[in-house]
Amino acid sequence: MDRTPEIDVLVVGAGFGGLFLLHRLRGLGLSTVVVETGSDVGGTWYWNRYPGARCDIESLEYSFSFDEELQQEWHWSERYAAQPEILDYARHVADRFDLRRDIRFDTRVTGAVWDDTVERWQVATDAGGWSARFVVMATGTLSAPNAPDFPGLDSFAGRVLHTARWPDDVDLTGRRVAVVGTGSTAIQAIPLIAEVADELYVLQRTATYSVPARNGPLDPAVEAAVKADYAGLRARDRQMPGGFGSRFGWNDASAVATDPAERDAELERRWRIGGFAFLGAFADVILDPAANELVADFVRRKIRATVHDPATAELLCPTQPIACKRMCLDTGYYETFNRPNVHLVDVSGAGIERITPGGVVVAGVEYAVDTIVLATGFDALTGAVMRVDLVGRDGRSIRDAWSAGPVNLLGLAVPDFPNLFVLTGPGSPSVLTNMIVSIEEHVEWIAEALVHLRDHACSVIEATAEAADAWVDHVNLVASFTLYPSCNSWYLGANVAGKPRVFMPLPGFPAYVERCRDVARSGYEGFRLS
Ligand code: NAP
Repeated sequence: MDRTPEIDVLVVGAGFGGLFLLHRLRGLGLSTVVVETGSDVGGTWYWNRYPGARCDIESLEYSFSFDEELQQEWHWSERYAAQPEILDYARHVADRFDLRRDIRFDTRVTGAVWDDTVERWQVATDAGGWSARFVVMATGTLSAPNAPDFPGLDSFAGRVLHTARWPDDVDLTGRRVAVVGTGSTAIQAIPLIAEVADELYVLQRTATYSVPARNGPLDPAVEAAVKADYAGLRARDRQMPGGFGSRFGWNDASAVATDPAERDAELERRWRIGGFAFLGAFADVILDPAANELVADFVRRKIRATVHDPATAELLCPTQPIACKRMCLDTGYYETFNRPNVHLVDVSGAGIERITPGGVVVAGVEYAVDTIVLATGFDALTGAVMRVDLVGRDGRSIRDAWSAGPVNLLGLAVPDFPNLFVLTGPGSPSVLTNMIVSIEEHVEWIAEALVHLRDHACSVIEATAEAADAWVDHVNLVASFTLYPSCNSWYLGANVAGKPRVFMPLPGFPAYVERCRDVARSGYEGFRLS
C-alpha cells in the first residue's frame, strides 16, 4: 500500500502568493508542495480571462520586488498590464525559479484534518493525500465566484458566462448580451462587449464610482527612472496607505478645509493623472462624510458631463460614499452609454425578477438576450478558505469557527487550527492594498516564523483565542473610524446572501506591517509555541 507522502509545508494555490511561498520555503530547506486547481500558475490571472481584464495597479508596482534581477529584466508593455501579460509574468516567475516541479496542477484540495497525535495536517485532494507539518492557504481573496441563483436561470436557452470562469471560445460579435453587475470587472468588460455586441443591456443594482485609468504604452522614460532606483520606489510605496502610488504622492490636506477652487484644481489634476492617485487628493476622503461628499460630487459632475442622456447619466451617478465600495478604474466606461446599442437597466428595486428561455425580466419588462454575463463578483476573503473542509483541533471545522465572521490573529492564524496560515486573509490589509506587497509581507513573516520554530526546537504554532478575539475587536475598531462599513460592499460580505456582515480587511497599512514585525520580535506574542 502506498504511504501518504510526508512533507513540511503544503501550500494551497499557485497564484502569486503560492509561487513566492514555494520559492522562499524551498530556500529554507523545507520540503514544500503547492496544490493548484487550475492547469497553470497565476491564480486570479489564470481564471479571469474576460474581455478587458487588466490590473488597476500600475504594472511597475504590481510585480514582485523580492529579486532585483527579476524586476530589472521584466519589461511591461503598458502602464496597467492586461491579464495575458500578467499571466505570462507569473509563468516567467515559475520557470525562472524552477517552481513547477513542486506544483501539482489540476488538483483540488478538498479538505485537511489536524492530527494532534503526530502534529500534522492530513490533507486530502481529489488526486491523493499528503501529510504536512504546515498548511498555508494561498487561496486568494477574490477567487471563489459569487453567482446569484436567479429564478429561471436554468431555463435560459442561451449561454451564461461568469467573468471569473471565462472560457476561451467566447465570441460576442453580433450577440444580444445582458451584463449583470457594474463593479470593477463589469466596468472593464462593458466597453469592449459594447463594441462587438448587437445590443448590450447593463443591469445595474448599484452605480459605482469610476475614474479614468489613462492606460497606454509604458513610457520608456518612466520605466528607466523607476528601474534606476527600483528598491527606492518599493520602499517609498511601502510607506503609502495602500502599499503603492508614491510616484503621485498623498496629499495631507483636508478636502473640507481646502478652498473650493483649489480643491477642484487638485481633483482635476489627479483625474488627469488617472488611477488611484485620485483618492490621494485629500487625507480625509475615507474618514469624513463631508470631505467624501465633495470628492464624490466631483465624479458625479464628470459623469453628467460625459453621458449625453440626462436620465442615464443620473442613474449612473452613485449615491453611496466614494471608495466605500472599491473604486473602479476604466477606459471609456461612461462614454459607452452614449452608444445606441447600449442600454442601462435599473435593477436596484425588486432586482432581476426572473430569467426566461429568451431573456431577462426586470420590473415586468423582458429584455431579449442570447448571452448573460454574470459580473457578480466573489465570496470575498473567506469564501475560498471556507470552501475547503478544514478541521482543526478537537474536530472543530473552519465553517463553525468562522460562522459569525472570520476570527484570527493578524489575519494570519486561526485559534484551534495549529500550524495553519492564511495568506492575505481577512483581518489583514490585503484587498485595501497592492496585493503583491501584502503577499510579500506575509510570505516573509511566515518564513521567519517557521525558521523561529526550527531554531527553538518547536513543532507547533497556534494563535490563542484571547489574542484572536482582541485582534478582531481591533479590526472592527479601526474600520469604525472610516466610512468603509457604511455601504453594502463585498468588504463587509454584503454581496453574498446569508454571509455575516463583518468588515473583513484591516484599514491600516503600513502600521500593520510594523505590528507583525513587533509580534515576531516579541517571540510571537499572542501565539502559543510548543
Ligand atoms: P463586485 O465588485 O462585487 O461587483 C459585482 C457586481 O455585481 C456589483 O455591481 C453588484 O451589485 C452586482 N451584483 C451582484 N449580485 C447581484 C444580483 N443578485 N443582482 C444584481 N446585481 C448583482 O465584483 P467584481 O466587479 O468582480 O470586482 C470584485 C473585486 O475584484 C474588485 O472590487 C477589485 O478589488 C477586484 N478586481 C480588480 C480588477 C482590477 O484590478 N482591475 C478587476 C476586476 C476585479 P451591488 O454593488 O449592488 O452589490
